[in-house]
Amino acid sequence: MTGRFAPSPSGRMHLGNVFSAMLAWLSVRSRGGRMLLRIEDLDPDRCRREYAETLKDDLRWLGLDWDREQTPQSQRTAAYAAEFERLRDLGLVYPCYCSRGELHAASAPHAADGRVLYAGTCRNLTEAQRAAKTKAPAWRLMVPDRVYGFEDGLQGHFEENLARDCGDFLIRRADGVYAYQLAVVTDDGQGGITEVVRGMDLLDSTPRQLYLYELLHLTPPQFSHVPLLVAPDGRRLSKREKDLDLGVLRQNYTPEQLLGRLAHLAGLLDRPESVSARELAGEFSWKKVKKEPVVLERL
Ligand code: GLU
Repeated sequence: MTGRFAPSPSGRMHLGNVFSAMLAWLSVRSRGGRMLLRIEDLDPDRCRREYAETLKDDLRWLGLDWDREQTPQSQRTAAYAAEFERLRDLGLVYPCYCSRGELHAASAPHAADGRVLYAGTCRNLTEAQRAAKTKAPAWRLMVPDRVYGFEDGLQGHFEENLARDCGDFLIRRADGVYAYQLAVVTDDGQGGITEVVRGMDLLDSTPRQLYLYELLHLTPPQFSHVPLLVAPDGRRLSKREKDLDLGVLRQNYTPEQLLGRLAHLAGLLDRPESVSARELAGEFSWKKVKKEPVVLERL
């Protein structure tokens, strides 16, 4: 089996990233699998090389190692372009000229969770209407009125009807940057990844990704979506909580102290005692891992 870390170098790792990375690593290493690292520096506006170096240093400090590094996303444009063309050949891709404002204004039905669905404004433009546009388009993938579901390793069954719950989604931005959904499926699928462990915030991306796996004839991995860390008021902890980024945490904790606390929060340890990643791997079982958001009162 092969798992991966797929961090985005858009800032310092914070506690929530460490939590997901720890579980991804434990799941793989407890079963003797291979771990890959892929720097998801897809978006040139948000990602920086220094952050990628710091991420690697932080993972090493934690004792979360990897066997091989996959090509960073910023160097994979040709691979994404080839998959994009394959989708276009299927007749499922169309240019979208909607501005941000138009997307908000369009009165599309809302999915159950309040997400605004794309109204399909550009889906049926004629060639003449497209030719009359002067700006560079973004590109969308048409979705079918079909349910895509899977058995999550931690959360159980999850499904979405793509037309009803999601809508046609972007696979390439107007500035030419390929979208996360297309890049991640290309990289995991072509890279032979058999297990993806990541945060719950990406659970509802998975049906879209399964659709892409199907269209591109790639084999999907087993997915496990791990709980997010939240403040006592239910708010998700984010990169804005500066005291929870690894720069600060590394000054105040040893790797073993930090892993022990996170393992305790995850449900893997009865008490937040110091422990190494290797020691945790010996005892790891998905059965012990909590499914619900993890409330962090203080570390
Ligand atoms: N790069 C994404 C992130 O840091 C993770 C994507 C994934 O695991 O599929 O949130």
